[in-house]
Amino acid sequence: MKIGILRIGQVDSNIAERLQENLAAVFPDTTVTLITKPMPVPKEAFNETRQQHRSNIILRKIHTYAEKKKTLDRVLGIVNVDIYAQELNFVFGEAEYPGKAALISLWRLRPEFYGKAPNTELPVERSAKEAVHEIGHTLGLQHCSNPFCAMYFSNSTFETDRKQSLFCSKCYLKIERAEKDKVESLE
Ligand SMILES: [Zn+2]
Ligand SMILES: [Zn+2]
Repeated sequence: MKIGILRIGQVDSNIAERLQENLAAVFPDTTVTLITKPMPVPKEAFNETRQQHRSNIILRKIHTYAEKKKTLDRVLGIVNVDIYAQELNFVFGEAEYPGKAALISLWRLRPEFYGKAPNTELPVERSAKEAVHEIGHTLGLQHCSNPFCAMYFSNSTFETDRKQSLFCSKCYLKIERAEKDKVESLE
């Protein structure tokens, strides 16, 4: 699999680089590249009343970008703005299920958001977990009830910190089985 990391708006390049390393370590036989040219945050995604951005509008932009990039199997967008989806107050990310496009936001992964002291490691670890989660959705994985699995739905940084950036054996098997089915249908 080939994953491209796309920065959308102002995103700390250190976090993007560390994310690149972490994703390459999680997904076997995968190359992860950092797309050099960032994309601007789409203005139409901003909701003036909520002072937040709609994640599905940003995700659609990533989808369009991913469709054009035939060399990439997945495009993971990263933003550093607050994002929300339909009935949720906020989301850490959103992805196509299944599909090529995924999105994560660093905004609520930073300890400063919660009035805590800045820390460079926490957002790096948390973004890896949320990125693995969203890429998992693009691979056809649903939420998992195992609180340590990357596919566990986290609604707070407590839950993000508790889970790992890896899939539990059940989720891992589902991906393997889906990949096998794909190969067999090609044969
Ligand atoms: Zn999810
Ligand atoms: Zn799982």
